[in-house]
Amino acid sequence: MEFTKEMIKNGFALKLKSLYSKDLKNASDIQKYIAFSNLIRDYMSEGWFETNQQYKDKKVKQVYYLSMEFLIGKLLEKNLINLGISDLAKEALEDMGMDLDLLIKVEPDAGLGNGGLGRLAACFMDSLAALGLPGHGCGIRYKYGMFRQEIKDGYQVEMPDPWLKEPYPWEVRKENRSIKIRFGGTAYMKEVGNELEAVHENYYTVKAVPYDIPLSGYLNKTVNTLRLWSSEADTDEFDFQNFNSGNYLQSVEGKYTAELISQVLYPDDSTENGRQLRLKQEYFFVSASLQSILNYHREVKVDFKHLDDYVAIHINDTHPALAVAELMRILMDEDELNWKEAWDVTTKVCAYTNHTIMAEALEKWPASGFKRLLPRLFMIIEEINRRFCQEIIARHGDWDRVGRMSIIENGMVKMANLAIVGSHSVNGVAALHTEILKTKELKDFNDFYPGKFNNKTNGITHRRWLIKSNRALTNLIIDCIGDSWVRNPKDLEKMMIFKKDKDVLSKIEDIKRENKVKLAKYIFDKKEIVVDPDSIFDIHVKRIHGYKRQLLNCLHILYLYKKLKNDKNFDIYPRTFIFSAKAAPAYVFAKKIIKLINTLGDLINNDPEVNDKIKVVFIDNYNVSKAEKIIPAADVSEQISTASKEASGTGNMKFMMNGAITLATLDGANIEIKELVGDENIIIFGLTSEEVLKFYSSHKYNSVNFLKENQEIAELVETLVDGTLGVSITEFGEIYKELTEKNDYYFVLKDFKEYVKAQEKIEKLYKNKDKWAKKCLVNIAMSGHFSSDNTIAKYAQEIWNIKGEKIGE
Ligand SMILES: *Cc1c(COP(=O)(O)O)cnc(C)c1O
Repeated sequence: MEFTKEMIKNGFALKLKSLYSKDLKNASDIQKYIAFSNLIRDYMSEGWFETNQQYKDKKVKQVYYLSMEFLIGKLLEKNLINLGISDLAKEALEDMGMDLDLLIKVEPDAGLGNGGLGRLAACFMDSLAALGLPGHGCGIRYKYGMFRQEIKDGYQVEMPDPWLKEPYPWEVRKENRSIKIRFGGTAYMKEVGNELEAVHENYYTVKAVPYDIPLSGYLNKTVNTLRLWSSEADTDEFDFQNFNSGNYLQSVEGKYTAELISQVLYPDDSTENGRQLRLKQEYFFVSASLQSILNYHREVKVDFKHLDDYVAIHINDTHPALAVAELMRILMDEDELNWKEAWDVTTKVCAYTNHTIMAEALEKWPASGFKRLLPRLFMIIEEINRRFCQEIIARHGDWDRVGRMSIIENGMVKMANLAIVGSHSVNGVAALHTEILKTKELKDFNDFYPGKFNNKTNGITHRRWLIKSNRALTNLIIDCIGDSWVRNPKDLEKMMIFKKDKDVLSKIEDIKRENKVKLAKYIFDKKEIVVDPDSIFDIHVKRIHGYKRQLLNCLHILYLYKKLKNDKNFDIYPRTFIFSAKAAPAYVFAKKIIKLINTLGDLINNDPEVNDKIKVVFIDNYNVSKAEKIIPAADVSEQISTASKEASGTGNMKFMMNGAITLATLDGANIEIKELVGDENIIIFGLTSEEVLKFYSSHKYNSVNFLKENQEIAELVETLVDGTLGVSITEFGEIYKELTEKNDYYFVLKDFKEYVKAQEKIEKLYKNKDKWAKKCLVNIAMSGHFSSDNTIAKYAQEIWNIKGEKIGE
């Protein structure tokens, strides 16, 4: 489609009229945003139709990315960029006396995820479409996504985020594609003639209604689909008897219970949540997705014995692991494949990504409750497990091994084991993480299935994390090396030739400063804290978790504060420490860390003896839009997880792409950043993952003894509980205990000295502006390697076996 300004102006006016009977003068901002987005969705509809048509006509193999989370953020600007009309739209609206940025601002940030895992899924969707690959997302349309965080008296308060309060212009409800999901009842095998047939009876059903969101590719005609399922009462079955006999309340109760399933996103990160409702959510969206996928392929008359020629199912973390059993169920119970045929094709279709080695995050379900909720699936999993255990014994004759690898063990169903056994590919998300999986956590499985394990280092879409969030830098890069990198992000490396170019380096400095000024203004507007754009912006943004070690950062701030107060000869280059992070509502320790950060902020920002040297800012409600604002303004990227714990990280890549210097442990993808930029363009400190794992297994780290031998650190830790912070001495008792009695599980104290030294190194380097700018440039130049386009190209080739399609040719 050729777009013109006139077309956009007329189209917009018409939309306002048709949707709201309003013109520009009397429509509200929300109405304008909805009408305008509606118009932009129209512009994508031809591509959407043609994409689907071509996939269908050519029977191309399609991948379905099953994920409990899609942290997609705002879509209007992304879609304008992908259609190549962001400037045109801006001008068209200007002609009408309107500001596009205002419409962009009022769009709700769709927070259907917790953090990195959900954002990864969103970046992958963007790359699939950009590369013209036939790939779709399947997830849940949570009525309430991630909670909105408010800070009251330094504490996190969770507020609901009613993002669907207004109509969401990007989605299309497909009532006629609704699916029935069965829960409860009993299942057994019945003899019919010479055959055994599965019977599932006395179940109740819930209706799954799909809402489709178009996923535009970049300057191509590909428009893939993100299908999010909403739960509703099944009105075909639902209590008309009750309703008609006047038991109105009882009939409404059924509706309420059904709707509960897609009501809220579990706001947990890196901890298992063993509630029955969570299992219900998982089966709900897995079953809806698989039934709908198979309905489609049944319609286009695919031979299900060769389903792997047409379909790839990706299991993002263990949450959708039930896909293995659900696919078996459909193939056997509905399409009459025998066990062997069904199993053969299931394992060829499914692939699984592992996202963590942390034991507390591995999903396990009590077998009894599982069986009650999903009796037919439980039967199938028991049979998968029986055959699998038999195979282990046949090969190894080792019952200990059976215990470790079994899918059902000790009355628990282990989702990771199900996903591994039922998939042809299991990938980790960074080289180190995959290595730990293969040699430690999942060694038994790697021995049993040689070749099944592989690495796919995470990535980020450079279209959002550079082109959208950092326009000035994007324009500079295009001025320098042209725009081939936009399609081919590794071409960013061409920037390396400007390593010694004073003019380009000073422009990079100017852009960074401009971004810092903008963030400083935002901080002043929201928090009334004045921060100096010429100070070092040292930024730590991500979920709060023990292993991400915001506490280490806090202790360093406290160390600087004390030294500035007590040692008149001590001086530092001014720094602004910026945090932004949500804590899981039930994670008491993490919530205390938020209070600690805010307490440090109150203490330091208001103390004229130190506040020209340090500021501490906590930005409320971290989400995708906040990340886009904050990250381009960073000088220092804090990636200081306990080595071995952060499987990959993706925040680290976003910072690198925006020219921040990474201050990091040798963990996750930090190691790969180091290999790309070289030792002189990253600051590394701390225990290695091998050292950490050795300490865990040998029990040779004792934090109380450590503190006895390190008086200065011991004194620092005491300030948490001696009144220095101006709050009750019991306020941070739990944090104090964590470091002492609980043996400092994440090695905060053990890594402290090296962290201080690394911070001193940062300061020294920063003072040499030219050298610093050069480091920024190298980071930007090498960051193209982390474009999710590259990651997705590898998934497509090495796991899914799918190919790019040119739509409309
Ligand atoms: C990228 C991103 C994350 C992941 O950050 P990590 O530093 O990798 O933990 C979390 N939340 C949001 C909103 C993000 O954009």
